Amino acid sequence: MKYYLWTIGCQMNFADSRQVAEELDLLGFLQASRAEEADLILLNTCVVRQSAEDKVVGRLTSLQGLKRRRPGLRLALMGCFVGETEALRGRYPWVDAFIAPSDIDSVVAFALQAAAGESRTGGDELPGDGSSAAPAHSATPVAAGVPISYGCDHFCTYCIVRLRRGPEVSRPVAEIAAQVQDLAGRGVREVTLLGQNVDSYGHDLPPLAPGQDPPNLADLLEAVHPAVGLARIRFLTSHPADMTGRLIDTAARLPKVCEHIELPVQSGDDAVLRRMGRGYAVAQYRELVAQIRAAMPGAGLATDVIVGFPGETEAQFEATYRLLQDLRFDMVHVAAYSPRHGTPAEHLPDDVPADEKERRRRAVDDSQERIVGEINAGLLGTTVEVLVEDRHRGKWRGRTRTNKLVFFGLDGAGRQGELVQVRITHTGPWSLQAEPVQSLP
Ligand code: SAM
Ligand code: SF4
Repeated sequence: MKYYLWTIGCQMNFADSRQVAEELDLLGFLQASRAEEADLILLNTCVVRQSAEDKVVGRLTSLQGLKRRRPGLRLALMGCFVGETEALRGRYPWVDAFIAPSDIDSVVAFALQAAAGESRTGGDELPGDGSSAAPAHSATPVAAGVPISYGCDHFCTYCIVRLRRGPEVSRPVAEIAAQVQDLAGRGVREVTLLGQNVDSYGHDLPPLAPGQDPPNLADLLEAVHPAVGLARIRFLTSHPADMTGRLIDTAARLPKVCEHIELPVQSGDDAVLRRMGRGYAVAQYRELVAQIRAAMPGAGLATDVIVGFPGETEAQFEATYRLLQDLRFDMVHVAAYSPRHGTPAEHLPDDVPADEKERRRRAVDDSQERIVGEINAGLLGTTVEVLVEDRHRGKWRGRTRTNKLVFFGLDGAGRQGELVQVRITHTGPWSLQAEPVQSLP
């Protein structure tokens, strides 16, 4: 039986899709590269903004005809599009199952039922109960995402993710450490520990020993660090209200933990942050960045920003713009505010006109392109370590510890997974060109 897996959204969705692909491949399912060739179609979805939701709806609509022509085709939808199942069933009757985000077991059960030729079923009847769309491939990757927690305990007023994914549930330390060792044993050299808010990891877990505090992300980093064969560890996404000095120190001290932090600020204005329900002030955020940079000089720092949040004045936007100019991030994911049904911010007047939101978004993007272009230019002639991930247009492609994309020529096949020292020969805002200095074991 052939399956087609389409994924959109955050790294968590891509990690989930990889796991689905791995489990289905083990069960003997074959991957199809086009929906038209498949007997089973799985859409792993995102609704964080209207634009993502529109892509999912477009995809669903285009599959309606296929399903009509081939009634035996089985179609399941997972990810954050899946809210109230009854309403979705009414709107998209050609979908056979709606499965909650990250509920891999139900996806596998659905696939097995489809393979067994079972009749139509809904997700809640199953056991257990950019566009960056791309099929997941289950061959062992060089770098893999490992979910460490699901859901989120924050209540950011604009965010639908926590409504769809529920409260935070952390996976036990031992389970994650075993998974990381297993991945490393199979050739994975880099893991990214994933969660909506990795900095609050573990607060819902029992202590590892009587009388201790519950484990936290620093403990988890210590636990996965010894994995034999593993070269690098990253973690994302961090939350400024939950990041601790101990985490920063641990990340800085452990050699495999990369100097790369994703710390969304969302706005550079305290009143907007309060309306967003973020739980920190700009001064605290600046202090955290200073602490990270002191502990990890040259760290690659990324942030997320929403422009045009309800009531955001020109002066408040400019405060965000200035903060980004001051802090000079390596990456800024900027989005225009998009009202999401069911969130508290839905009831605030969406009063920044669409073209003004777009102007603010572009202003941030343009300024960021300049800033990162300058940061990267400073790397010209330096030697950096790159983990080789794959080949792209005749060059090897990999990332620095600070998460910069590097292309370079290097003889020989099978270089994937090698750590290579390269000298940067050309820089641009989005990638670096380099020449190898030497290969490391
Ligand atoms: N948990 C992370 C955090 O604390 O920021 C990120 C989760 S969210 C899935 C990823 C990003 O999407 C957010 O950082 C935010 O910038 C953006 N986002 C979320 N809701 C949005 C909305 N309603 N409109 C525009 N952007 C949004
Ligand atoms: Fe959403 Fe806020 Fe949780 Fe991030 S921290 S997932 S933005 S509620």
